[in-house]
Amino acid sequence: MSQSNKQYAFALHGGAGAVAGRNYHSVEEHLLGLTKECETLLANGCSALDVVETAVIEMETSGMYVAGRGSAPNTAGYVELDASIMYGPSREAGAVAALPGFESPIQIARGVMEKTPHVLLAGAGAAAFARDNGYAEVENPDDYYRLPVGVTKDETTNSNAHGTVGAVALDQSGALAAATSTGGTFGKLEGRIGDTPLIGPGTWADDNIAISCTGTGEHIIRAGGAVSIACAFKSGASLDDAINGMLDEVKRLGGDAGVIAVTRLQKIATLYNSDGMKRASVSSKQPLQVATFA
Ligand code: ASP
Repeated sequence: MSQSNKQYAFALHGGAGAVAGRNYHSVEEHLLGLTKECETLLANGCSALDVVETAVIEMETSGMYVAGRGSAPNTAGYVELDASIMYGPSREAGAVAALPGFESPIQIARGVMEKTPHVLLAGAGAAAFARDNGYAEVENPDDYYRLPVGVTKDETTNSNAHGTVGAVALDQSGALAAATSTGGTFGKLEGRIGDTPLIGPGTWADDNIAISCTGTGEHIIRAGGAVSIACAFKSGASLDDAINGMLDEVKRLGGDAGVIAVTRLQKIATLYNSDGMKRASVSSKQPLQVATFA
């Protein structure tokens, strides 16, 4: 806990697609190390935006999660990636959807935010933007992509399996930021876009709260997702009630999901209604916690 008396909060997830009974020890170790690293960054005055991007890049490039290197091909046989990032104080946001062929979609999402007047670029246009701006491309997909931890080969064509990564942070200046990245659901159709690259459903940050969602994207979109939690919270609901309201709606619609959130007052919530969610959190008030199941 608290490397200083300065105030910050951080949480991350490695997806709500954890399957009961499986061993996620190596993932938890990875989340633990990453959370310590991000805590140090925040304690040293790093911005929430840089910290959430750093956390997501490390998860994307690890190949341990269903994002970046751990992604599986769509039914047409190639990987399409979704990612988004949002900075609360200015509400600036950037995202890429159905992006083929790049190592770190979250970096490109940030590029969309900072280098274009747009919020979301998709498909061939997103790839052209990434190429023009020199982001690292996957040279040899057969060598690059790998099976994420806890996922069997058979499951990569099963549309019920899913995973994602995300991070939320409050920095010492009081700024909040959120970032989310995914390879989507396994067995997805070419061109399928879930909640993750959508500012509102998948990712949200404003002056009060930063949120990253994971779970069955179609249901999260239809339930309102992250921004519906932010609205409920702003209207006076407790953090847990605001999140559980959205999660209950996902469940009612036939899906499952998980949410991580941090607030301006350093509250942290990591809630889910799937079997489990790989997650970790820390703040200047709360010791580091890491878990997958209850
Ligand atoms: N929400 C992601 C999607 O639907 C998947 C996940 O979070 O596991 O693409």
